[in-house]
Amino acid sequence: MARLMRRRTGAALQFFGGAGTVTGSKHLVTVGARRVLLDCGLFQGLKALRERNWAAPPFAADSVDAVVLSHAHVDHSGALPLLVRRGFSGPIYCTPGTADLLEIMLLDAAHLQEEEAEFANRHRTSKHSPALPLYTTADAQAALRRIDPRPYGSTFDVAPDQHITFRRAGHILGSATVSLTYAAPHPHTLVFSGDLGRWDRPILRDPELIAEADVLLVESTYGDRVHAGDPSDAFARLVTETAERRSVLLIPAFAVGRTQELLYVIRELEDAGRIPVLPVFIDSPMAIDVTGIYARHPEDHDLDMQRLLRENASPLAPQQLQVLRRAEESKSLNNRPGPMIVISASGMATGGRVLHHLIRRLPDPDTTVLLVGYQAAGTRGRALQDGAKALRIFGQEIAVQARVVLLDGVSAHADQHDLLRWLRGFTRPPRVTYAVHGEPQAADTLAATIRRQLGWQARVAEDRETVELP
Ligand code: ZN
Repeated sequence: MARLMRRRTGAALQFFGGAGTVTGSKHLVTVGARRVLLDCGLFQGLKALRERNWAAPPFAADSVDAVVLSHAHVDHSGALPLLVRRGFSGPIYCTPGTADLLEIMLLDAAHLQEEEAEFANRHRTSKHSPALPLYTTADAQAALRRIDPRPYGSTFDVAPDQHITFRRAGHILGSATVSLTYAAPHPHTLVFSGDLGRWDRPILRDPELIAEADVLLVESTYGDRVHAGDPSDAFARLVTETAERRSVLLIPAFAVGRTQELLYVIRELEDAGRIPVLPVFIDSPMAIDVTGIYARHPEDHDLDMQRLLRENASPLAPQQLQVLRRAEESKSLNNRPGPMIVISASGMATGGRVLHHLIRRLPDPDTTVLLVGYQAAGTRGRALQDGAKALRIFGQEIAVQARVVLLDGVSAHADQHDLLRWLRGFTRPPRVTYAVHGEPQAADTLAATIRRQLGWQARVAEDRETVELP
């Protein structure tokens, strides 16, 4: 039991998710009698992973002194309501942007869980009777009350002799790398990359480099890949085709980050006269709320975004943007002919309103479904990416006649080149570097590349292992 591994004086690190997989991010740092949990994410995708959400974590929730979040994505934050329900009563530290996003995302996650349980009870699709939600809105509200936002660049205490500094990660609004300095008995620094973004992308400032780490946890989602170049030509071609064929371009997109980047790019291409102006529908209540939050956090904006807002432009608003808040508005799209662009969550088609659009549009050979982000193993998005001829949605078998296109180069994640660029910012090699947050091949490849190109000690973090910290 993890509790026995507490050492009076030593320091240890344990990986309870986000190791060997891209979801469930949870890394526990124990220094003496103090415990800090880095991220508290939900598992998503494969059933065996999702089932882990229901099991109690292998550490006592009430033994954790503080949680520190890298960013708001559910695979990094979505298990907070469970942790609080199981007895965690400390602060949850994150940046102000993350705090605003969590307000929407945790409530939305709880709402989805409640809806899923209700659906299972109505249609008796669960072996449990009654089916219960993983957590409730009340659980999410209890977690939100524990949030304590801290700005980028400030250093604050999480425990006696343990300090945290957030720096920009450039991945989504509010995303941060976490530097944790602890004394055991001499000061050491553990750096956690969270999810790293890319350089020169719309809206957000670039990832910040960090000079020092004794122990480093680096994400490896695309540790084995290099993104294609600027995707805007390919995207402009698809939009132009959509206009010419009077068809539908359906884009499953993460409500947080990806939707805002798409809106920015469509607006920019329209301004430049590179695409015809088409009706653009955002059909995700969460994406609509999040777009407002994106505009309200200048500390995250790059220079172009700052300038556009100063000039009172609406950088996230294509000319014929229509936002659909109510379910009836969403349903009215079913009978609407093209040309149009529909952006709807969730990004990997694991839930949300995009499922209804997929039921309606997948059997239609005139529709193009555009995949614009990472599609984790076991998700419907991955099945589409892999060329599935049919998808199972709400118990129905839906034929895939639509064209499915993967737009490379639009990821919010650093690729192997970006990761190495960030790693080269360290002025001396960390004593050890762990590749986290990657499927096995991506994590293995990144660790091997770090050893070969940088000459550092690097290896893949193993799920549920405990390592000693210096
Ligand atoms: Zn993320």
